Amino acid sequence: MKRTCAACGHNRAVFLFEKYGYGILRCRSCRFEFVDFDAQDGFTKDFYTEDFFVEGQDKYGYADYLQEKPSLMRSSVKRAGFVERYVKGGSILDVGCAAGYFLEALGPHWDVYGCEPSEAMVRIARERFGDRITRAALEDYEPGRKFDVITMWDCLEHMTDPNLSMQKVAALLKDDGFLFIGTPDAGSPAPRILGRHWYYYVPPAHLQYFDRWNIETFLERNGFRMKRLFYFGKSVSLAEMVANISYVVDHPGIKRLSERIVKSPKLNLSVPFMVFDDMTVMARKSSLFRD
Ligand SMILES: [Zn+2]
Repeated sequence: MKRTCAACGHNRAVFLFEKYGYGILRCRSCRFEFVDFDAQDGFTKDFYTEDFFVEGQDKYGYADYLQEKPSLMRSSVKRAGFVERYVKGGSILDVGCAAGYFLEALGPHWDVYGCEPSEAMVRIARERFGDRITRAALEDYEPGRKFDVITMWDCLEHMTDPNLSMQKVAALLKDDGFLFIGTPDAGSPAPRILGRHWYYYVPPAHLQYFDRWNIETFLERNGFRMKRLFYFGKSVSLAEMVANISYVVDHPGIKRLSERIVKSPKLNLSVPFMVFDDMTVMARKSSLFRD
């Protein structure tokens, strides 16, 4: 069993419960939770193929990412507004940009870049942004430049080695650059109520479960200073919500219902989802940190 906590570095993880055949562990020092999983080389590229984004229920991915666009755009516009509260423009890299919806939500005054492991998503994002979108896992992304802002939306929880990811982010960010992260909060009420049935416990898609305290420790250890933490309500489509329920109550009827809703766009309404189990963090690359 893995013991070392990626957030605080202590060696005191204990087994919490099993989900989908994977052990979920918790650090006894900082309560960071993580999956007892060692990714093989190429895991990211092999796992995040088209079938994660379309009919991705088997991988705990998306029912239909493209049909989710109205809901995803609404979240993206909120996130873009959050970023623009602190930075008005400049160069920005969206890590795990998928079809490029967040970059689309930013105004034209931004110099936008994205990296994304899924070939299918890169194809769509490139229709709008051309070669500013690179097909690569973060670890392999070599743009030969640095950015004013880096965003990681619904992305950190998927990383196989979060410290390696943050070292890469630190190397790609200018000194005093801005980092924005949106990730589930494992210390929020929803996982406390739902326990192992929380819809974000979906290994091996989600591997890292931070809370509002240990994410700060994690960022500091990687040369970032956390400045703001915020909770948005989010909108999801009815299909996505039913798909989430199907992860909780593992019943074939519910999965079929989600598939039926996906096929009837009229039924697939956008639902406000006020659970506040996603946290949004703004951090700065510490000027004490030099690479
Ligand atoms: Zn820890």
